[in-house]
Amino acid sequence: ESLTVGELAKKLHREPSEIIKKLFMLGVMATINQELDKDSIELIAGEYGVDVEEEVLVDVTDLEAYFTEDEETNLEERPSVVTIMGHVDHGKTTLLDSIRHTKVTAGEAGGITQHIGAYQVEDKGKKITFLDTPGHAAFTTMRARGAKITDITILVVAADDGVMPQTIEAINHAKAAEVPIIVAVNKMDKEAANPDRVMQELTEHGLVPEAWGGDTIFVPISAIKGDGIDELLEMILLVGEVEEYKANPNRNAVGTVIEAQLDKGRGSVATLLVQNGTLKVGDPIVVGNTFGRVRAMVNDLGRRVKTAGPSTPVEITGLNDVPQAGDRFAVLEDEKSARQVGEARAQLALQAQRSEKSRVSLDNLFEHMKEGEMKDINIVVKADVQGSAEALTSALNKIDVEGVKVRILHTGAGAINESDITLAAAFNAIVIGFNVRPDTNAKRAAEAEDVDIRLHRIIYNVIEEIELAMKGMLDPEF
Ligand code: GDP
Repeated sequence: ESLTVGELAKKLHREPSEIIKKLFMLGVMATINQELDKDSIELIAGEYGVDVEEEVLVDVTDLEAYFTEDEETNLEERPSVVTIMGHVDHGKTTLLDSIRHTKVTAGEAGGITQHIGAYQVEDKGKKITFLDTPGHAAFTTMRARGAKITDITILVVAADDGVMPQTIEAINHAKAAEVPIIVAVNKMDKEAANPDRVMQELTEHGLVPEAWGGDTIFVPISAIKGDGIDELLEMILLVGEVEEYKANPNRNAVGTVIEAQLDKGRGSVATLLVQNGTLKVGDPIVVGNTFGRVRAMVNDLGRRVKTAGPSTPVEITGLNDVPQAGDRFAVLEDEKSARQVGEARAQLALQAQRSEKSRVSLDNLFEHMKEGEMKDINIVVKADVQGSAEALTSALNKIDVEGVKVRILHTGAGAINESDITLAAAFNAIVIGFNVRPDTNAKRAAEAEDVDIRLHRIIYNVIEEIELAMKGMLDPEF
Protein backbone atom coordinates (compact mmCIF):
# COMPACT_ATOMS: atom_id res chain seq x y z
CA GLU A 1 0.00 0.00 0.00
CA SER A 2 1.07 3.53 -0.63
CA LEU A 3 -0.19 6.97 0.27
CA THR A 4 0.16 10.41 -1.21
CA VAL A 5 1.67 13.19 0.85
CA GLY A 6 -1.81 14.68 1.26
CA GLU A 7 -3.33 11.40 2.46
CA LEU A 8 -0.53 10.80 4.90
CA ALA A 9 -0.92 14.32 6.27
CA LYS A 10 -4.62 13.69 6.80
CA LYS A 11 -4.01 10.44 8.64
CA LEU A 12 -1.44 12.09 10.86
CA HIS A 13 -3.73 15.08 11.39
CA ARG A 14 -1.05 17.45 10.15
CA GLU A 15 -0.94 20.10 7.49
CA PRO A 16 0.40 18.81 4.17
CA SER A 17 2.88 21.67 4.10
CA GLU A 18 4.36 20.39 7.36
CA ILE A 19 4.86 16.92 5.86
CA ILE A 20 6.41 18.43 2.74
CA LYS A 21 8.80 20.39 4.95
CA LYS A 22 9.76 17.27 6.90
CA LEU A 23 10.38 15.36 3.68
CA PHE A 24 12.47 18.22 2.39
CA MET A 25 14.62 18.08 5.49
CA LEU A 26 15.08 14.37 4.88
CA GLY A 27 16.26 15.22 1.40
CA VAL A 28 13.08 14.33 -0.47
CA MET A 29 11.42 16.89 -2.71
CA ALA A 30 7.72 16.11 -2.73
CA THR A 31 4.44 17.62 -3.84
CA ILE A 32 1.10 17.06 -2.22
CA ASN A 33 -0.13 14.49 -4.72
CA GLN A 34 3.08 12.54 -4.79
CA GLU A 35 2.92 8.88 -3.84
CA LEU A 36 5.24 7.95 -1.01
CA ASP A 37 6.92 4.59 -0.73
CA LYS A 38 6.63 2.51 2.40
CA ASP A 39 10.04 3.60 3.72
CA SER A 40 9.21 7.28 3.51
CA ILE A 41 5.82 6.71 5.12
CA GLU A 42 7.47 4.84 7.99
CA LEU A 43 10.09 7.50 8.34
CA ILE A 44 7.63 10.38 8.51
CA ALA A 45 5.18 8.52 10.73
CA GLY A 46 8.10 7.67 13.00
CA GLU A 47 8.85 11.36 13.35
CA TYR A 48 5.41 11.70 14.91
CA GLY A 49 5.81 8.61 17.04
CA VAL A 50 3.21 6.68 15.07
CA ASP A 51 3.56 3.00 14.26
CA VAL A 52 2.76 2.62 10.59
CA GLU A 53 1.28 -0.86 10.55
CA GLU A 54 -1.33 -0.06 13.14
CA GLU A 55 -2.09 3.57 12.80
CA VAL A 56 -1.23 5.08 9.49
CA LEU A 57 -2.57 2.67 6.93
CA VAL A 58 -5.91 2.31 8.71
CA ASP A 59 -7.04 5.40 10.52
CA VAL A 60 -9.38 3.83 13.06
CA THR A 61 -10.92 7.16 13.90
CA ASP A 62 -12.09 7.76 10.33
CA LEU A 63 -15.58 6.26 10.18
CA GLU A 64 -15.49 6.34 6.37
CA ALA A 65 -12.78 3.70 6.64
CA TYR A 66 -15.41 1.25 7.88
CA PHE A 67 -17.46 1.70 4.71
CA THR A 68 -15.39 -0.92 2.92
CA GLU A 69 -16.45 -2.53 -0.34
CA ASP A 70 -17.72 -6.09 -0.26
CA GLU A 71 -16.95 -9.03 -2.50
CA GLU A 72 -19.56 -9.23 -5.24
CA THR A 73 -20.54 -12.73 -4.09
CA ASN A 74 -21.56 -11.43 -0.67
CA LEU A 75 -23.89 -8.79 -2.03
CA GLU A 76 -27.66 -9.08 -1.92
CA GLU A 77 -30.40 -6.83 -3.21
CA ARG A 78 -31.44 -4.10 -0.77
CA PRO A 79 -34.39 -1.68 -0.72
CA SER A 80 -33.98 1.66 -2.50
CA VAL A 81 -33.72 4.74 -0.30
CA VAL A 82 -35.96 7.51 -1.62
CA THR A 83 -36.18 11.26 -0.88
CA ILE A 84 -39.11 13.45 -1.92
CA MET A 85 -38.34 16.97 -3.12
CA GLY A 86 -40.18 19.80 -4.81
CA HIS A 87 -41.61 23.30 -4.49
CA VAL A 88 -43.44 24.28 -1.33
CA ASP A 89 -47.14 23.32 -1.37
CA HIS A 90 -46.74 21.00 -4.33
CA GLY A 91 -47.68 18.05 -2.10
CA LYS A 92 -44.53 16.46 -0.66
CA THR A 93 -45.96 15.92 2.81
CA THR A 94 -49.28 14.72 1.45
CA LEU A 95 -47.51 12.23 -0.79
CA LEU A 96 -45.36 10.89 2.05
CA ASP A 97 -48.47 10.41 4.19
CA SER A 98 -50.43 8.89 1.36
CA ILE A 99 -47.74 6.34 0.52
CA ARG A 100 -47.36 5.42 4.13
CA HIS A 101 -51.07 4.99 4.79
CA THR A 102 -51.89 3.03 1.69
CA LYS A 103 -48.89 0.80 1.86
CA VAL A 104 -48.09 -0.03 5.43
CA THR A 105 -47.05 -3.67 5.36
CA ALA A 106 -50.27 -5.69 5.26
CA GLY A 107 -49.74 -7.64 8.48
CA GLU A 108 -48.65 -4.50 10.24
CA ALA A 109 -51.80 -2.54 9.47
CA GLY A 110 -53.27 -1.05 12.59
CA GLY A 111 -49.84 -0.73 14.11
CA ILE A 112 -49.27 2.76 15.45
CA THR A 113 -46.86 4.37 13.06
CA GLN A 114 -44.04 6.18 14.70
CA HIS A 115 -42.36 9.22 13.26
CA ILE A 116 -38.65 8.42 13.28
CA GLY A 117 -37.55 10.38 10.20
CA ALA A 118 -37.87 7.53 7.74
CA TYR A 119 -40.20 4.65 7.01
CA GLN A 120 -40.49 1.55 4.88
CA VAL A 121 -43.35 0.29 2.77
CA GLU A 122 -43.74 -2.99 0.97
CA ASP A 123 -44.90 -3.36 -2.61
CA LYS A 124 -44.95 -6.63 -4.56
CA GLY A 125 -42.97 -8.28 -1.79
CA LYS A 126 -40.22 -5.68 -2.02
CA LYS A 127 -39.44 -2.94 0.43
CA ILE A 128 -38.78 0.73 -0.28
CA THR A 129 -37.34 3.14 2.29
CA PHE A 130 -38.57 6.75 2.35
CA LEU A 131 -36.83 9.55 4.18
CA ASP A 132 -39.76 11.55 5.48
CA THR A 133 -38.04 14.82 6.04
CA PRO A 134 -39.35 16.58 2.94
CA GLY A 135 -37.50 19.43 1.40
CA HIS A 136 -33.94 19.46 0.37
CA ALA A 137 -32.52 21.18 3.41
CA ALA A 138 -32.05 17.92 5.28
CA PHE A 139 -30.94 16.20 2.13
CA THR A 140 -28.33 18.80 1.37
CA THR A 141 -27.12 19.15 4.93
CA MET A 142 -26.39 15.45 4.97
CA ARG A 143 -24.73 15.65 1.61
CA ALA A 144 -22.71 18.57 2.93
CA ARG A 145 -21.36 16.33 5.60
CA GLY A 146 -20.32 13.80 2.99
CA ALA A 147 -23.03 11.29 3.63
CA LYS A 148 -24.67 10.05 0.50
CA ILE A 149 -27.77 8.21 1.55
CA THR A 150 -30.41 8.78 -1.12
CA ASP A 151 -30.68 6.41 -4.08
CA ILE A 152 -33.65 7.99 -5.85
CA THR A 153 -35.29 11.44 -5.76
CA ILE A 154 -39.03 11.86 -6.34
CA LEU A 155 -39.54 15.33 -7.74
CA VAL A 156 -43.09 16.45 -6.95
CA VAL A 157 -44.51 19.09 -9.30
CA ALA A 158 -48.10 20.33 -8.93
CA ALA A 159 -49.86 20.00 -12.28
CA ASP A 160 -51.80 23.21 -11.70
CA ASP A 161 -48.74 25.25 -10.82
CA GLY A 162 -45.90 23.90 -12.93
CA VAL A 163 -42.18 24.31 -12.48
CA MET A 164 -41.31 26.78 -9.72
CA PRO A 165 -38.01 28.08 -8.32
CA GLN A 166 -37.70 25.34 -5.70
CA THR A 167 -38.45 22.73 -8.37
CA ILE A 168 -35.38 23.88 -10.22
CA GLU A 169 -33.34 24.00 -7.05
CA ALA A 170 -34.39 20.43 -6.28
CA ILE A 171 -33.32 19.31 -9.76
CA ASN A 172 -29.93 20.91 -9.31
CA HIS A 173 -29.47 19.42 -5.85
CA ALA A 174 -30.29 15.94 -7.15
CA LYS A 175 -28.07 16.40 -10.18
CA ALA A 176 -25.16 17.60 -8.08
CA ALA A 177 -25.53 14.49 -5.93
CA GLU A 178 -25.91 12.34 -9.06
CA VAL A 179 -29.17 10.82 -7.87
CA PRO A 180 -31.75 9.59 -10.43
CA ILE A 181 -34.99 11.59 -10.55
CA ILE A 182 -38.55 10.31 -10.99
CA VAL A 183 -41.10 13.06 -11.61
CA ALA A 184 -44.46 12.81 -9.82
CA VAL A 185 -46.92 15.18 -11.50
CA ASN A 186 -49.24 15.84 -8.58
CA LYS A 187 -52.73 17.30 -8.07
CA MET A 188 -54.03 15.63 -11.23
CA ASP A 189 -57.49 15.71 -9.65
CA LYS A 190 -57.60 19.47 -10.02
CA GLU A 191 -59.56 21.20 -12.74
CA ALA A 192 -56.57 23.33 -13.69
CA ALA A 193 -54.16 20.40 -13.93
CA ASN A 194 -51.95 20.70 -16.99
CA PRO A 195 -49.42 17.85 -17.08
CA ASP A 196 -48.26 18.71 -20.60
CA ARG A 197 -47.09 22.07 -19.40
CA VAL A 198 -45.13 20.41 -16.57
CA MET A 199 -43.44 18.08 -19.05
CA GLN A 200 -42.68 20.98 -21.36
CA GLU A 201 -41.16 23.06 -18.59
CA LEU A 202 -39.12 20.20 -17.16
CA THR A 203 -37.80 19.35 -20.60
CA GLU A 204 -36.21 22.79 -20.56
CA HIS A 205 -34.34 21.66 -17.47
CA GLY A 206 -33.05 18.45 -18.98
CA LEU A 207 -35.78 16.13 -17.70
CA VAL A 208 -37.28 14.78 -20.92
CA PRO A 209 -40.16 12.29 -20.64
CA GLU A 210 -39.79 8.90 -22.24
CA ALA A 211 -42.77 9.65 -24.47
CA TRP A 212 -40.77 12.49 -25.97
CA GLY A 213 -37.64 10.47 -26.52
CA GLY A 214 -35.97 11.19 -23.18
CA ASP A 215 -35.29 8.90 -20.26
CA THR A 216 -37.06 10.58 -17.36
CA ILE A 217 -39.99 8.74 -15.81
CA PHE A 218 -43.11 10.89 -15.27
CA VAL A 219 -45.97 9.55 -13.16
CA PRO A 220 -49.27 11.47 -12.91
CA ILE A 221 -50.64 11.25 -9.37
CA SER A 222 -53.09 12.71 -6.93
CA ALA A 223 -51.46 12.48 -3.54
CA ILE A 224 -54.68 13.49 -1.85
CA LYS A 225 -56.84 10.82 -3.52
CA GLY A 226 -54.13 8.18 -3.65
CA ASP A 227 -54.32 7.94 -7.45
CA GLY A 228 -51.13 6.86 -9.20
CA ILE A 229 -49.35 5.87 -5.98
CA ASP A 230 -49.12 2.23 -7.10
CA GLU A 231 -47.60 3.27 -10.44
CA LEU A 232 -45.15 5.54 -8.64
CA LEU A 233 -44.03 2.72 -6.35
CA GLU A 234 -43.75 0.42 -9.36
CA MET A 235 -41.45 2.93 -11.06
CA ILE A 236 -39.31 3.18 -7.93
CA LEU A 237 -38.95 -0.60 -7.91
CA LEU A 238 -38.09 -0.46 -11.61
CA VAL A 239 -35.33 2.09 -11.11
CA GLY A 240 -34.11 0.02 -8.17
CA GLU A 241 -33.91 -3.03 -10.41
CA VAL A 242 -32.03 -1.17 -13.11
CA GLU A 243 -29.58 0.44 -10.70
CA GLU A 244 -29.18 -2.79 -8.71
CA TYR A 245 -28.74 -1.38 -5.23
CA LYS A 246 -26.97 -4.02 -3.19
CA ALA A 247 -25.43 -4.56 0.22
CA ASN A 248 -23.91 -7.31 2.34
CA PRO A 249 -26.25 -8.20 5.23
CA ASN A 250 -23.61 -10.43 6.83
CA ARG A 251 -21.16 -7.89 8.18
CA ASN A 252 -20.92 -5.27 10.89
CA ALA A 253 -23.36 -2.46 10.21
CA VAL A 254 -22.37 0.96 8.87
CA GLY A 255 -24.66 3.83 7.93
CA THR A 256 -25.84 7.36 8.63
CA VAL A 257 -27.79 9.26 11.27
CA ILE A 258 -31.17 10.51 9.99
CA GLU A 259 -32.11 12.43 13.12
CA ALA A 260 -31.19 12.45 16.80
CA GLN A 261 -32.33 14.09 19.99
CA LEU A 262 -32.22 13.94 23.74
CA ASP A 263 -35.26 12.22 25.22
CA LYS A 264 -36.14 12.88 28.85
CA GLY A 265 -36.75 9.25 29.69
CA ARG A 266 -34.55 7.37 27.26
CA GLY A 267 -31.52 9.62 26.96
CA SER A 268 -29.87 9.96 23.56
CA VAL A 269 -32.18 8.67 20.83
CA ALA A 270 -30.97 8.41 17.23
CA THR A 271 -32.59 7.21 14.03
CA LEU A 272 -30.00 5.37 12.00
CA LEU A 273 -30.24 4.28 8.40
CA VAL A 274 -28.33 1.04 8.05
CA GLN A 275 -26.57 1.27 4.69
CA ASN A 276 -24.57 -1.93 4.80
CA GLY A 277 -24.45 -4.90 7.13
CA THR A 278 -26.94 -5.77 9.85
CA LEU A 279 -27.29 -3.82 13.08
CA LYS A 280 -28.09 -5.86 16.19
CA VAL A 281 -29.12 -5.11 19.72
CA GLY A 282 -25.98 -5.24 21.86
CA ASP A 283 -23.63 -4.11 19.08
CA PRO A 284 -20.74 -1.88 20.21
CA ILE A 285 -21.08 1.23 18.06
CA VAL A 286 -19.51 4.58 17.21
CA VAL A 287 -21.98 7.19 15.96
CA GLY A 288 -20.38 10.45 14.83
CA ASN A 289 -18.47 11.57 17.90
CA THR A 290 -20.50 9.45 20.28
CA PHE A 291 -20.30 5.79 21.23
CA GLY A 292 -22.04 3.08 23.17
CA ARG A 293 -23.81 -0.22 22.84
CA VAL A 294 -27.14 -0.57 21.04
CA ARG A 295 -29.47 -0.94 24.02
CA ALA A 296 -32.82 -1.10 22.24
CA MET A 297 -34.01 -0.74 18.66
CA VAL A 298 -37.47 0.40 17.54
CA ASN A 299 -38.65 0.38 13.92
CA ASP A 300 -40.91 2.85 12.10
CA LEU A 301 -44.00 1.01 13.36
CA GLY A 302 -42.93 1.54 16.94
CA ARG A 303 -42.07 -2.14 17.37
CA ARG A 304 -39.02 -3.42 19.15
CA VAL A 305 -36.67 -5.25 16.81
CA LYS A 306 -33.47 -7.21 17.44
CA THR A 307 -31.86 -6.72 14.04
CA ALA A 308 -31.98 -4.20 11.19
CA GLY A 309 -30.61 -5.05 7.75
CA PRO A 310 -29.46 -2.85 4.83
CA SER A 311 -31.63 0.21 3.99
CA THR A 312 -33.60 -0.19 7.23
CA PRO A 313 -34.22 2.84 9.44
CA VAL A 314 -34.26 2.17 13.20
CA GLU A 315 -34.30 4.26 16.29
CA ILE A 316 -31.65 3.26 18.81
CA THR A 317 -30.81 4.11 22.38
CA GLY A 318 -27.60 3.47 24.31
CA LEU A 319 -25.27 6.25 23.15
CA ASN A 320 -23.26 8.37 25.55
CA ASP A 321 -24.23 11.61 23.81
CA VAL A 322 -26.43 12.96 21.01
CA PRO A 323 -24.95 12.66 17.50
CA GLN A 324 -25.96 14.89 14.57
CA ALA A 325 -28.04 14.21 11.48
CA GLY A 326 -25.69 13.20 8.71
CA ASP A 327 -23.10 11.66 11.03
CA ARG A 328 -21.77 8.28 10.01
CA PHE A 329 -21.92 5.27 12.29
CA ALA A 330 -20.02 1.98 12.39
CA VAL A 331 -20.26 -1.14 14.52
CA LEU A 332 -16.91 -2.16 16.00
CA GLU A 333 -15.52 -5.45 17.25
CA ASP A 334 -15.87 -4.77 20.96
CA GLU A 335 -16.95 -2.14 23.42
CA LYS A 336 -13.43 -1.11 24.30
CA SER A 337 -12.60 -0.19 20.69
CA ALA A 338 -15.90 1.65 20.34
CA ARG A 339 -15.09 3.71 23.40
CA GLN A 340 -11.54 4.43 22.20
CA VAL A 341 -12.61 5.48 18.72
CA GLY A 342 -15.58 7.47 20.02
CA GLU A 343 -13.47 9.34 22.55
CA ALA A 344 -10.71 9.98 20.01
CA ARG A 345 -13.28 11.36 17.58
CA ALA A 346 -14.80 13.64 20.19
CA GLN A 347 -11.31 14.87 20.96
CA LEU A 348 -10.46 15.48 17.31
CA ALA A 349 -13.76 17.31 16.82
CA LEU A 350 -12.87 19.63 19.69
CA GLN A 351 -9.46 20.32 18.21
CA ALA A 352 -10.94 20.93 14.79
CA GLN A 353 -13.42 23.34 16.27
CA ARG A 354 -10.58 25.25 17.83
CA SER A 355 -8.51 25.53 14.70
CA GLU A 356 -11.67 25.86 12.58
CA LYS A 357 -10.54 25.29 9.06
CA SER A 358 -12.14 27.93 6.97
CA ARG A 359 -14.45 27.45 4.05
CA VAL A 360 -13.38 28.29 0.60
CA SER A 361 -13.56 31.95 -0.21
CA LEU A 362 -11.95 33.73 -3.11
CA ASP A 363 -9.35 35.05 -0.69
CA ASN A 364 -8.15 31.65 0.42
CA LEU A 365 -8.97 29.73 -2.75
CA PHE A 366 -5.38 29.53 -3.83
CA GLU A 367 -4.32 28.19 -0.43
CA HIS A 368 -6.90 25.43 -0.70
CA MET A 369 -5.76 24.66 -4.21
CA LYS A 370 -2.14 24.54 -3.18
CA GLU A 371 -2.96 22.13 -0.43
CA GLY A 372 -4.45 19.89 -3.03
CA GLU A 373 -7.90 19.98 -1.49
CA MET A 374 -9.54 21.31 -4.61
CA LYS A 375 -9.66 20.15 -8.16
CA ASP A 376 -12.83 22.03 -9.06
CA ILE A 377 -13.96 25.46 -8.04
CA ASN A 378 -17.70 25.21 -7.43
CA ILE A 379 -19.85 28.23 -8.18
CA VAL A 380 -23.50 29.17 -7.76
CA VAL A 381 -24.58 31.96 -10.12
CA LYS A 382 -27.57 34.22 -9.53
CA ALA A 383 -28.43 37.10 -11.85
CA ASP A 384 -31.20 39.62 -12.40
CA VAL A 385 -32.32 37.96 -15.62
CA GLN A 386 -31.87 34.49 -17.07
CA GLY A 387 -29.98 35.89 -20.04
CA SER A 388 -27.18 37.39 -17.97
CA ALA A 389 -27.03 34.27 -15.79
CA GLU A 390 -26.41 32.26 -18.94
CA ALA A 391 -23.89 34.69 -20.37
CA LEU A 392 -21.98 34.70 -17.09
CA THR A 393 -22.09 30.92 -16.84
CA SER A 394 -20.68 30.44 -20.28
CA ALA A 395 -17.92 33.00 -19.60
CA LEU A 396 -17.05 31.25 -16.33
CA ASN A 397 -16.92 27.90 -18.08
CA LYS A 398 -14.32 29.29 -20.43
CA ILE A 399 -11.87 30.18 -17.67
CA ASP A 400 -8.76 28.17 -18.18
CA VAL A 401 -6.31 27.98 -15.33
CA GLU A 402 -4.09 24.96 -15.38
CA GLY A 403 -5.23 22.05 -13.27
CA VAL A 404 -8.45 23.62 -12.02
CA LYS A 405 -11.95 23.38 -13.40
CA VAL A 406 -14.89 25.70 -12.86
CA ARG A 407 -18.01 23.73 -11.98
CA ILE A 408 -21.30 25.62 -12.06
CA LEU A 409 -23.66 23.97 -9.57
CA HIS A 410 -26.71 26.11 -10.12
CA THR A 411 -27.72 29.19 -12.05
CA GLY A 412 -30.90 31.15 -11.74
CA ALA A 413 -32.56 34.52 -11.98
CA GLY A 414 -33.57 36.36 -8.83
CA ALA A 415 -32.13 37.32 -5.48
CA ILE A 416 -29.65 35.02 -3.77
CA ASN A 417 -31.78 32.94 -1.40
CA GLU A 418 -31.19 30.58 1.47
CA SER A 419 -31.29 27.53 -0.74
CA ASP A 420 -28.42 28.92 -2.83
CA ILE A 421 -26.41 29.24 0.36
CA THR A 422 -27.24 25.71 1.53
CA LEU A 423 -26.15 24.35 -1.81
CA ALA A 424 -22.98 26.43 -1.78
CA ALA A 425 -22.16 25.33 1.76
CA ALA A 426 -22.71 21.69 0.82
CA PHE A 427 -20.29 21.85 -2.04
CA ASN A 428 -17.90 24.42 -0.67
CA ALA A 429 -18.93 26.75 -3.44
CA ILE A 430 -18.72 30.48 -3.98
CA VAL A 431 -21.91 32.40 -4.74
CA ILE A 432 -21.80 35.07 -7.42
CA GLY A 433 -24.59 37.63 -7.54
CA PHE A 434 -24.83 39.53 -10.78
CA ASN A 435 -26.99 42.64 -10.40
CA VAL A 436 -28.71 40.91 -7.47
CA ARG A 437 -28.19 40.78 -3.74
CA PRO A 438 -28.79 38.14 -1.07
CA ASP A 439 -32.15 38.34 0.71
CA THR A 440 -32.25 38.55 4.51
CA ASN A 441 -32.37 34.81 5.10
CA ALA A 442 -29.58 34.21 2.64
CA LYS A 443 -27.44 36.84 4.36
CA ARG A 444 -27.98 35.22 7.72
CA ALA A 445 -27.30 31.73 6.35
CA ALA A 446 -24.17 32.86 4.54
CA GLU A 447 -22.81 34.34 7.74
CA ALA A 448 -23.61 31.23 9.74
CA GLU A 449 -22.20 28.89 7.11
CA ASP A 450 -19.31 31.14 6.20
CA VAL A 451 -20.17 31.15 2.52
CA ASP A 452 -18.41 33.67 0.30
CA ILE A 453 -20.82 35.82 -1.73
CA ARG A 454 -19.45 38.09 -4.46
CA LEU A 455 -21.63 40.81 -5.94
CA HIS A 456 -20.89 42.25 -9.35
CA ARG A 457 -22.35 44.37 -12.11
CA ILE A 458 -19.86 43.71 -14.90
CA ILE A 459 -19.16 40.26 -16.29
CA TYR A 460 -15.57 41.08 -17.03
CA ASN A 461 -14.97 41.89 -13.35
CA VAL A 462 -16.39 38.55 -12.25
CA ILE A 463 -14.17 36.62 -14.62
CA GLU A 464 -11.11 38.62 -13.67
CA GLU A 465 -11.74 38.13 -9.98
CA ILE A 466 -12.17 34.38 -10.29
CA GLU A 467 -9.15 34.04 -12.53
CA LEU A 468 -6.95 36.05 -10.20
CA ALA A 469 -8.12 34.03 -7.21
CA MET A 470 -7.33 30.83 -9.04
CA LYS A 471 -3.86 32.09 -9.74
CA GLY A 472 -3.44 33.21 -6.16
CA MET A 473 -3.05 36.88 -6.85
CA LEU A 474 -6.16 38.31 -5.28
CA ASP A 475 -5.50 40.80 -2.52
CA PRO A 476 -7.45 39.76 0.57
CA GLU A 477 -10.74 41.63 0.94
CA PHE A 478 -11.14 43.23 4.32
P1 GDP B 1 -45.61 20.43 0.65
O1 GDP B 1 -45.36 21.83 1.09
O2 GDP B 1 -44.94 20.14 -0.67
O3 GDP B 1 -45.28 19.39 1.68
O4 GDP B 1 -47.18 20.34 0.31
P2 GDP B 1 -48.36 19.69 1.16
O5 GDP B 1 -48.31 18.22 1.10
O6 GDP B 1 -48.38 20.33 2.49
O7 GDP B 1 -49.60 20.15 0.29
C1 GDP B 1 -49.94 21.51 0.09
C2 GDP B 1 -51.42 21.66 -0.16
O8 GDP B 1 -51.80 20.98 -1.36
C3 GDP B 1 -52.26 21.04 0.94
O9 GDP B 1 -53.36 21.87 1.16
C4 GDP B 1 -52.69 19.73 0.37
O10 GDP B 1 -53.93 19.29 0.86
C5 GDP B 1 -52.81 20.04 -1.12
N1 GDP B 1 -52.57 18.85 -1.97
C6 GDP B 1 -51.54 17.99 -1.91
N2 GDP B 1 -51.68 17.02 -2.82
C7 GDP B 1 -52.83 17.27 -3.48
C8 GDP B 1 -53.53 16.62 -4.56
O11 GDP B 1 -53.14 15.59 -5.10
N3 GDP B 1 -54.68 17.20 -4.99
C9 GDP B 1 -55.18 18.34 -4.42
N4 GDP B 1 -56.31 18.82 -4.92
N5 GDP B 1 -54.56 18.98 -3.42
C10 GDP B 1 -53.40 18.46 -2.95
